Amino acid sequence: MKILKKKKFLVALVVLLLLYSSWLSFHLLSFKTYKSFPPETSLHEIEGAYHIHTIFSDGRKSIDKIAKLAAKSDLDFIILTDHGNPNYKSLQSQGWKEGVLVLAGSELSVSRGHLVGLNFNPPPHPFSQNAEDAVYEIQSSGGFSIIAHPYSKVSWTWGEFVDYSGIEIINANSMLKRNILPLLPYLPALLLKPKYALLKMLDNPLRNLKKWDELNRLHPIYGYFSIDAHILYRPLLSLFLLHLSLRKPLPTGFEAARDQVYRAIRKGRFYNAIDAAAQAKGFRFWGEDGERIIMMGSTVRLRSPLSLHIQAPFPFTKEIYLIRDGKRILHSQKDKLLHIARQPGIYRVEVYLRERTPLGKDIPWILSNPIFLKENSR
Ligand SMILES: [Zn+2]
Ligand SMILES: [Zn+2]
Repeated sequence: MKILKKKKFLVALVVLLLLYSSWLSFHLLSFKTYKSFPPETSLHEIEGAYHIHTIFSDGRKSIDKIAKLAAKSDLDFIILTDHGNPNYKSLQSQGWKEGVLVLAGSELSVSRGHLVGLNFNPPPHPFSQNAEDAVYEIQSSGGFSIIAHPYSKVSWTWGEFVDYSGIEIINANSMLKRNILPLLPYLPALLLKPKYALLKMLDNPLRNLKKWDELNRLHPIYGYFSIDAHILYRPLLSLFLLHLSLRKPLPTGFEAARDQVYRAIRKGRFYNAIDAAAQAKGFRFWGEDGERIIMMGSTVRLRSPLSLHIQAPFPFTKEIYLIRDGKRILHSQKDKLLHIARQPGIYRVEVYLRERTPLGKDIPWILSNPIFLKENSR
């Protein structure tokens, strides 16, 4: 009797395991990264990953190894953000490595949370621990600051708005930590197809988006998808990318290339995308009013109705939303969208994947930076 029971239990276990492995293999085998075929334009689009830790703080890999992996993922640049006030070792290791432009800022622990400082000249003394003072000091050293993971890990405590240049909308590291439970059924995927597992762990960044829209009403501030990589560099380096629009190709000299990348980032001339789900290259969002071409990130006065153009030339189903002051005002599944803006506001774009994808329906696949249209005060 006892042996029969044991046998039954074993059979049930094997059936369950078989069911589970076929369920998992079905998902893993049917997962593919959608590819885009971007049209040629006069703008140069370059791609890179932002927020990376190395062995100079709590990351697991050296800069050289990370650069090698970035080269394998065809990235044009990576932005290191080792902890420190600032992290001098990391700052000294910038340059071209393996054909990838390696830039470094630092992630500072300040009174309100974690603050990323970029493009500053290394200061003779550590930056202040006071958030507002640190922003000022980074700026005085030629740099700019981004609020890191405002609602996770070390959450940000909000105070008076000072000159923050950016805010993280998605932080992969904190989502990975927070969503370990829903990830459990997909855990073997972390070894077999880590990109798939990482896409499964992402959730809706609604809170960050809401705060971002709120802050934008006070002052233009740009949104960032942050990989916050400490481990799993290979899949993370191609999970989210910053896509920069440049007027000229990147120069070969390090300083000139660094300046060009930072100029684009500081002006908000970039959009973010979850490229592990589908390659986003070729997306465009710009404005035209007859005489002017207005790029993402710009602030302009509304002198006459302004045509807002969105281009999403992708051979798979997606849904584009045009958003004004945090509210969706238009949506379409077409490759091109035109809206004549007659009223001031903060206009930005979100694109969602609508074809078989592990990405949740409410997670923006592409997130543009805004165009800020101001009242014409003549
Ligand atoms: Zn942090
Ligand atoms: Zn970090």
